[in-house]
This record gives sequence, structure tokens and C-alpha cells, in this order.
Amino acid sequence: MNEMELLAQADLRGLRYTETNGQRRVFPSDDAIAALVAFDEPLPEQGLPAEDTLALLDEVGSPATTASNGPRYFGFVIGAALPAAAAAERLISAWDQCASTFDNSPVSATLERVASRWVLDALGLPRDSAVGFGTSATACTLTALAVARRELLARLGWNLDDQGLNGAPEVRVVISELTHITVKKALRVLGFGKNHILLAPVDGQGRVDATKLPSLDERTILCLQAGEVNTGAFDPFALIIPHAKKAGAWVHVDGAFGLWARASSLADLTQGIELADSWTTDAHKWLNTPYDCAMTICRDAGALAEAMNSDAAYSSASVDAQKNLTLEFSRRPRGILVWAALRSLGRDGIAKLVERHCAQARHIGDGLARAGFDILNTVTLNQVLFRCTTDTQTLAVRTAVQQSGEAWFGGAIWQGRPAMRISVSSWRTQDSDVEALLALLVRINSETTEVASSR
Ligand SMILES: *Cc1c(COP(=O)(O)O)cnc(C)c1O
Repeated sequence: MNEMELLAQADLRGLRYTETNGQRRVFPSDDAIAALVAFDEPLPEQGLPAEDTLALLDEVGSPATTASNGPRYFGFVIGAALPAAAAAERLISAWDQCASTFDNSPVSATLERVASRWVLDALGLPRDSAVGFGTSATACTLTALAVARRELLARLGWNLDDQGLNGAPEVRVVISELTHITVKKALRVLGFGKNHILLAPVDGQGRVDATKLPSLDERTILCLQAGEVNTGAFDPFALIIPHAKKAGAWVHVDGAFGLWARASSLADLTQGIELADSWTTDAHKWLNTPYDCAMTICRDAGALAEAMNSDAAYSSASVDAQKNLTLEFSRRPRGILVWAALRSLGRDGIAKLVERHCAQARHIGDGLARAGFDILNTVTLNQVLFRCTTDTQTLAVRTAVQQSGEAWFGGAIWQGRPAMRISVSSWRTQDSDVEALLALLVRINSETTEVASSR
């Protein structure tokens, strides 16, 4: 098989997979998982035919995927892949560009510039901010926090690049009690010890309580969030950020999925967020681009470009070259996926996608409440947090749904007790999928109740 035939085979197999997305089990069967032992081969001494490799990947691999690119996956906040973005992904994979600089790839640099401009426009953030397209919110938050520390130290007269951290003035960090684990990871990797991080207390919805915020000063990085992972709640930015800025603190916002609410009629939830210094958001979640695609957005474009600079004698580039705005040096032009998604949705389409998911989440919340579940959050966004009357029942229902293959969502511990967490974030999820999820939950809940009471 020559290269063209092989690639055509790959396209065909990909198409077949996508076509049957809605029919496949949402979580793979035990058999499909057991069959993964087929991959457990020793490293071949001699190369094997490419078509065999592709066939193995598809025949053993495809059945063991989670159908997160389908309509009935409600776990975490995953999002599917919009057709325009998935199509762009196929083409740019043929290009195989190293999108570090304009010289490496003129088209990539051009499109990532356009994508940056559109993202700032769609999200209503300061238009001269810099946008670095990184692999994940984790990496992009790490980037933003590195910039924050470097800048605060510079304002205190300390040059981090030259002097490093030894003997540097202490930079304090204040985070929400419910900060996402990846923000904590970024802080840990950057060397902010847990014992030096102050936790801001939250209210019953998981929002930072502005009246209980620890004191802030010009040595403080404050991390807020748009979209708490369980409740979808937003910190009260308009109350907190002006005060933080007056105190001289750096404000970073983790808006991995929630920031996109700003591009819809729910924008009021994000009021004041535009006053922050830096923001992180994912495209691979709510914007429904393929993995892996996220953004560091920094109000002070120069600060991001200086902190991430990787110019060398053999490779110097413009300040907005993506290798100078992200952790990566060699990188793929993932911003093109953002460009394709935004171009196919338009301002109107983004708003409708977000609003539809929020309406579907509210419908799920109402339906579950009517069916006797306890709804634990005020469903304002795309997240529904709920549980059964007893913890045993909660765990039984969750396991049964996951094993059914008909839908999938995950669990959480909320205020000390097990809970279930539904997130609506796939463009493929139609109202009929939402009705099917409700029916499934009602059925499984009554079946597990019967089993429990007949014991
Ligand atoms: C998913 C998520 C992250 C981490 O994003 P990755 O792209 O998976 O690294 C951070 N914060 C919040 C609120 C999230 O939902």
C-alpha cells in the first residue's frame, strides 16, 4: 500500500468512526477493554507494515475509546470536535508545520494572529492582550503564573531572569478554596509551597466570598475562577478585581470553560473579569475544538513575550511569535483550530452553543429535581451537581449509568459527600439526548432503589 492509499484508508476509518459516534457505547465494554492486550507487543525488531498498524489501531483501539466526541458524554467538561475544526485538524496534520515563527510557517503565524484577535473580540477582553496557544489550561496557567511572578518581582526591583528565586522578595498567592487542581499543580511546579498559599473561603455555590478575602498587596498573585468545576459558579469579579488592582496585586482568572459564557447572553456572570491581568481558557472544552488547544491571555503583551521569550541567534522572531508566548518551541499551529471553530460558528453561533448547553443543563436540573434527586447547585451554567438521598444510592446510580454504555458522567465529593456531576458541553448533544439521559437516570434510580429495598 503506498502512502496515498494508506492515508485514504486512515480517512475512511476515521469517517466510519465519526459516523457511528452516536451508536457506540459511551464507555467501552469490558470485552473491548480486555482486547487492549493486543497492543502489548514487544518492540518489533523489524518494522511492520503501516497498514497493519493502522488496522490494529482501529480494530482494537476504536472500540476501547470513550465516546466523548459523541452526543451522550456528560463527563468532566470535555466537549466534542466541531466539524470545521475537525476538518482543519485533518488538513494541518498533512501540512505538519512547526509553527514557532513566521519564518517557520507563514500561514500558521498569520492564522494564529487572526485567531488571537477573534478570541479577544469574542471574549470581550482588552484588544492588545497577547494570546499564546498552548496545549492545555494547565500549561497556560503555569505560563500566566510565571509571568505574574516575574512582573511582580520586577516591580519590586528584582530581575528574576538574572537573579532567580534565591533571595527574592516573597510573592504571596491567594487562591479560592475550590481552585482547580491544575492551578495548584502549576503553583507547585513553579515552587510556590502549599504552606505559603492562602485560601479564600467560598460560599455555598463555590464562589469566593468577597467579604472574607485575605488581604492583598503588591506582592500578591490572586487566582480567581470563571466556572467552578462542580457548580459552574463564577467568582464575583466586579467586587474583587478593582479592589485587588488598587492593592497592586496581579489577578489571574482560570476560565478553562467558563470564560466562554462571556461570548453569550450569560456574559453578565463574568462582569468585571476584563479587569484582570491574565486569563486562561481552553478551546478543547467548550469551544469544541479537537485536543489539545488552550490559551494564555495576558493584558500586558510584552510581559508574556518577555517571560516566554526563546529567541536565539539562529531563531529570533517577532514579539508575537507563538514560540515567544508559550512554553513550546517546536509546536503545531493549534490556534488554527480556534480560527476554524470561530469562523464556522461566528459570534452568533458561539452564543447559541453556550446558551443551548446552559438551557439543556437547566432542563436536566429541573427534570432530576422532579424525579426526586437533590440538586446541589443553582444551575446557571452547563453544570448540574446532584445526588440521591443516601450516599450508597448515589454511588450505585453513578456506577450503573457508567456501566450502561448509554451515557457517561463522573462523580465528585461535594461538601464531604459523594455527588454526581453532569456537564453539557458537546455540540452534538441534542434535546433528545438530554431526554434520554433523564429517562436513563430515572430508570436506574428506581431499579437501584428496588434492589436496595428488597435486600
Ligand atoms: C479542565 C479545567 C482545567 C484544566 O484544563 P486542562 O486543559 O485539562 O489542563 C483548569 N481549570 C478548570 C476550571 C477546568 O475545568
